[in-house]
Amino acid sequence: MTKAMPEKLTMEKLVSLCKRRGFIFQSSEIYGGLASCWDYGPLGVELKNNVKAAWWQSVVRQRDDTVGIDASILMHPRVWEASGHVAGFSDPFSTCLACGRNWRMDQMGETVRCPECGGELSEPAPASLMLETFLGPVRATSQITYLRPETAQGIFVNFQNVLNSTRKKLPFGIAQIGKAFRNEITPGNFTFRTREFEQMEIEYFVKPGTDEQWFNHWVTERFNWYINLGIREENLHLREHSKDELAHYARSCTDIEYLFPFGWSELEGVANRTDFDLRQHANHSGENMSYFDDQSQERYTPYVIEPSAGVDRSALAFLADAYAEELDDKGDLRVVLHLHPALAPIKVAMLPLSRSEKLVPLAKEVYENLRRHWMVQYDDAQSIGRRYRRQDEIGTPFCVTVDFQSLEDNQVTIRDRDSMRQMRVPIAGLGACLAAKLGGEPFEVLPPGGAYWLGF
Ligand code: ATP
Repeated sequence: MTKAMPEKLTMEKLVSLCKRRGFIFQSSEIYGGLASCWDYGPLGVELKNNVKAAWWQSVVRQRDDTVGIDASILMHPRVWEASGHVAGFSDPFSTCLACGRNWRMDQMGETVRCPECGGELSEPAPASLMLETFLGPVRATSQITYLRPETAQGIFVNFQNVLNSTRKKLPFGIAQIGKAFRNEITPGNFTFRTREFEQMEIEYFVKPGTDEQWFNHWVTERFNWYINLGIREENLHLREHSKDELAHYARSCTDIEYLFPFGWSELEGVANRTDFDLRQHANHSGENMSYFDDQSQERYTPYVIEPSAGVDRSALAFLADAYAEELDDKGDLRVVLHLHPALAPIKVAMLPLSRSEKLVPLAKEVYENLRRHWMVQYDDAQSIGRRYRRQDEIGTPFCVTVDFQSLEDNQVTIRDRDSMRQMRVPIAGLGACLAAKLGGEPFEVLPPGGAYWLGF
């Protein structure tokens, strides 16, 4: 029998792994699915939470000049008039007169006929991307509002609240993670473009004149965030928007793009939005949105630098970049996710060599110790080789095996996912060993109830 050989990643492979191992499922699958909506499974929710935690750690907890908020998804409808979304948040679309498919015309290049069936296309018309909803129990008298298409406006309308309550001075930023909704014309490519998604956005307020310097700062910061979390540099690049591509209020904009299996596509946009948003809200609400600079004794409307990233797109990029098919030393194919330990859904797998009554108490005790610190999985089903493969496929950085020797020498084996190398370590030192690799404070693995493995 010929052995399987490593192949390149395709979207089909990624979608299938995500479903098989519980990262991502199709929404409402038992009813045939809801187009472009996805549910994160037990491993997917861990990955997504880890992506959000890594972002929050880097842009809020490790900076003196940013704070976080969590604004509501539903906002006063006038917010969306002020922001320009009601009038202008649309994409041009055409419908195929033969097959009825809708196409986003700004993504079609020179194509003038239906890419699917070659049929004639209708005249392009703007399609609003806003998802409307109704507040109140009686439809006739209820108020129409929108599911927010971006989290940014929740930050702008709270600018003065945050300023007054934190006494922050410029430059400073407000960060937020939350759901956003867009009635996309052509959702697709798995979780890349969906109608419900999550954003991680920062509005960084600066003194006019210092804006381009801060813009460059944030482009570099955000680019490095992906690299530090393991994305290979050759798969990431910056794409500067040309002047005619820029929104009318933006001074500059650079996209951070990733080389997905379907090509280079935007992960995050960093924009210099000038003072457009604060001015708009000042005009529409009549409230003061300016800032008094007590150093220069000037009053001005701050400029804003906005790094705006997608949680789902980042998670998809981290998965795609981590995926590898490799041959082990026996020439067998293994699928492995080389996820950065900070992102891996499961940090450590506890694998007792067998289900022997002698091994279980020790294995459980070590497991209980470790799970206080990290997400740990206990797996005693099937051969140890198969269990290693299962953990490789979901990106678990370390497996710890307890065997009969452990009962004698109080040592366990740690196996490293990437090198597949194994190392014996004393149980008491396991916490310190893993903490050095996974992050966290070193700790001593406490002795279990039984004294046999303590050696006295
Ligand atoms: P695109 O050009 O791909 O439609 P955009 O430029 O409109 O994206 P922004 O408005 O800048 O996107 O949104 C910021 C980030 O939010 C994007 O970089 C992306 O990561 C994420 N995002 C935007 N729209 C979607 C979507 N429909 N599905 C998933 N993520 C999205």
